[in-house]
Amino acid sequence: MCLFAPLANISDQRYPGFHADWPIRSFGTSPTPLIAIRSGLGPPAPLRYTQRGMASQKTFYIETFGCQMNVHDSEKVIGTLEQQGYARVETEEAADLILYNTCSIRDKAEQKVFHRLNDYKALYRRGKRFGVLGCVAQQEGERIFERAPFVSLVSGSASYRKLPEMLIQIEQGATRVTGLDDRQTDETFETEFTARSNPHRGYITIIEGCDKFCAYCVVPYTRGKERSRRSSSVLDEARRMADSGFTEIQLLGQNVNSYRDPEGKCSFAELLAAIGQVPGIRRVRFTTSHPRDFTRDIVDAIDAVPTLCDHVHLPVQSGSSKILRLMQREYTREQYLERIAWMKGAKRPISMTTDIITGFPGETPEDFEQTITLLDEVQYDGVFAFKYSPRPNTPALSMPDSIPDEEKSHRLQILLDRQREIQRANYEKHIGQILEVMVEGLNPARGQVVGRTSQNKTLNFTTAQPIAPAPGVYLPVRVTKTFPNSLVGEAVV
Ligand code: SAM
Ligand code: SF4
Repeated sequence: MCLFAPLANISDQRYPGFHADWPIRSFGTSPTPLIAIRSGLGPPAPLRYTQRGMASQKTFYIETFGCQMNVHDSEKVIGTLEQQGYARVETEEAADLILYNTCSIRDKAEQKVFHRLNDYKALYRRGKRFGVLGCVAQQEGERIFERAPFVSLVSGSASYRKLPEMLIQIEQGATRVTGLDDRQTDETFETEFTARSNPHRGYITIIEGCDKFCAYCVVPYTRGKERSRRSSSVLDEARRMADSGFTEIQLLGQNVNSYRDPEGKCSFAELLAAIGQVPGIRRVRFTTSHPRDFTRDIVDAIDAVPTLCDHVHLPVQSGSSKILRLMQREYTREQYLERIAWMKGAKRPISMTTDIITGFPGETPEDFEQTITLLDEVQYDGVFAFKYSPRPNTPALSMPDSIPDEEKSHRLQILLDRQREIQRANYEKHIGQILEVMVEGLNPARGQVVGRTSQNKTLNFTTAQPIAPAPGVYLPVRVTKTFPNSLVGEAVV
């Protein structure tokens, strides 16, 4: 049993859930307009910063690509920069320092980054500085300086805790500052200075890196070894967030459920339960779960603690045990389906979503057919499907990439078509139900309020009230119509 809190006195929230938006670009609010003045055009001179009519002010612009982990890393990078006296601006034009937080999970990500950096040459001539952060930075390392000599900073995520020192070096005129040697660190990037972009729903990273080394994946090479945060520190952050008005917390990790408390106080399920009982927190979500480490006590916690989401994202990657073995996923189709059966046996219906790769080397039509039958068997509410994309340094690179690209695309389309029909039927089952939503915003073109259910489904609704409910408000909504990816309804109050 976790040393934190008993599973008692929990208010009855029927519909917790989680939010899985994959590719996300760029960020939020707009501070005071600033102009940057430079001493000369060359890179080695130290930076001077000026704000119109005010004291000296350093400015930065950041653009973010990739998963929620990257989005949240950027929130912490922004908080760190602001703590170091920088102000965030909305355009590259207005910034002294331009940061690019990259993702290299698929495609030719590194080529896209170099292409983009090319666009920055002109800005460099006007005295701006550039930093490449994240997975492409870690993967390409100092090669970035060779191909884009105007870049001053290259840092992987395992080195972000050293950002303040790296920033000072750049300010002093250093031209090749790196944070690339920390992939074996046991430390996580913890900071109180996190610039969260949503005032109601916030992320907490509880585990960084990955030790699983799936045959196709760059993450263990770019994000370093697996390391968990102390449960007491995670809970403190959750309490601080609740105190400042957040009602929804999303726990993050490449494999969030591989969490191991360095203090030995809590299992992952116990930590989940403890966060679900923080006063003021109404929803707790977690992503991504690895099937090998998905234990029954996670479902028990969802059963016991109503604030825990009734949604689990459990990437399967393939329905064929042969392909799972080649992928080095460390579970079979049968073991995966056992975990699905636990969730189907839960007290509340748990919505399930997954990730799938089509056309992994060696995938025969029969293997692919097993993925399709798995979709039929599980009845997912959502699937993120990708064509296999060969990645640098990964073991799969040395396997013959035998499936032509057209065939990978063909299989992907078959899968998406099948899944669409499954979702259509699944979503129709909500007709007539009253679901609690958290309001996310308005869609003025449709005259609808946008809400999200605890199962992480979008529910667009109308209301009889003269004033639309504000973002962050929770409301009961009756479902009147469904689509394969969203619900439509009317507010009950
Ligand atoms: N840790 C999670 C897990 O084990 O399921 C996955 C995290 S990974 C950042 C997100 C997804 O990207 C994976 O589930 C996989 O489907 C996809 N992915 C990763 N590498 C890929 C590759 N080389 N080609 C295609 N898709 C890939
Ligand atoms: Fe990549 Fe596998 Fe680690 Fe997930 S578990 S991040 S797919 S190596």
